[in-house]
Amino acid sequence: MCQHGPMKRIVIAGVTGSIGTQAVEVLAGNDAIAIVGMGAGRRAGELFDLAAQAGVTELALAAERFAEQVPDGVTLRVGVGSIEALISELKPDLVLNALVGYAGLSVTRSALESGADVALANKESLVAAGHLVKELAAENGCEIIPVDSEHASLAQLLEGVAPNEVSSLTLTASGGPFRGWTAERMANVTVEEALNHPTWAMGGKITIDSATMMNKGLELIEAHHLFGFPYEDLNVLVHPQSIVHALVELADGMQLAHMGMPDMKAPIAWAVEGRTRRNIGVAPLGLAAVGSLTFEEPDLTAFAALPLAIAAGSRGGSAPAVLNAANEVAVTAFLEGRIPFGEIIPLVAGSLGQLEDLPGSTFAELDEADSAARALTAEAANAIEVGA
Ligand code: MG
Repeated sequence: MCQHGPMKRIVIAGVTGSIGTQAVEVLAGNDAIAIVGMGAGRRAGELFDLAAQAGVTELALAAERFAEQVPDGVTLRVGVGSIEALISELKPDLVLNALVGYAGLSVTRSALESGADVALANKESLVAAGHLVKELAAENGCEIIPVDSEHASLAQLLEGVAPNEVSSLTLTASGGPFRGWTAERMANVTVEEALNHPTWAMGGKITIDSATMMNKGLELIEAHHLFGFPYEDLNVLVHPQSIVHALVELADGMQLAHMGMPDMKAPIAWAVEGRTRRNIGVAPLGLAAVGSLTFEEPDLTAFAALPLAIAAGSRGGSAPAVLNAANEVAVTAFLEGRIPFGEIIPLVAGSLGQLEDLPGSTFAELDEADSAARALTAEAANAIEVGA
């Protein structure tokens, strides 16, 4: 644990996104935690509004150009690296990293290097560089607290259970909007259809990842690093109601489940408020009203992202970074209407197949793998004609 004063100071990186805005809302009801800084990518107006709402004056914006006037009394750092600079300067106790994508890795690094614990919503940090991030956290005596709902659930379930009593971990998945569909039927769905998630309200990138089930694949890699379990002891169970978030299987054959309404405010509050719980307005779970909870095995043929992610995770080295980068590029191409839905995962598989593995023993090497995968996937995406 890092040394903390009585009033905990937090910086929120990626504050304008879905997780960031909900964190601001949650923390408005907590007098023991002060938001001392906020960072955003390019939505300056929303950043200024959230800062005014929370009384925060130390801000960072990754984009250098914006139309809005900087409000009086606000110190704004701009440009690539500005959020990292804000963290190094303010030296908070905790950083909520709610950035999307590989870009969030440098924020995780800055936070740990400055001695802050990290409430991590940026799963890509662990997917691409889990082994190095964990080392860095250990060197600096800092904690990584998962915000991802399944992982926050697992962390809570594992509290007070002896490690040798746990035989496997299970992440549940809603199955997304195309559960039960074949790959052929999904091939040409629209962006709107893919963004229509049945249970969780989330940002665009993660919603598409849920539709391909790459999100669950990334989460398996995330769980591997967070909890230190081998891939053969990590399971995915499709559970369309999203009431059971995760399961821990115990040595005696019993399982512990973490249940609740699918509301990100619960894991956000638990993670940023020091692994504590209070009433934050999440709707109570009425199991009789829900009626039935159903479970099924994931369809690994229709959702090839899952076995692909497990293979990349098992390969280790730079392979998970390549998986992640190729997926980011392919998802963006789909969201921009440049490639069909059915091409997202084949593009990722193609890049993973073509790029040679690097050991991934330094962050620089992973940056290199990330760049190479982006270039290769972008080129392959450009060669695809929509509707061809
Ligand atoms: Mg999740």
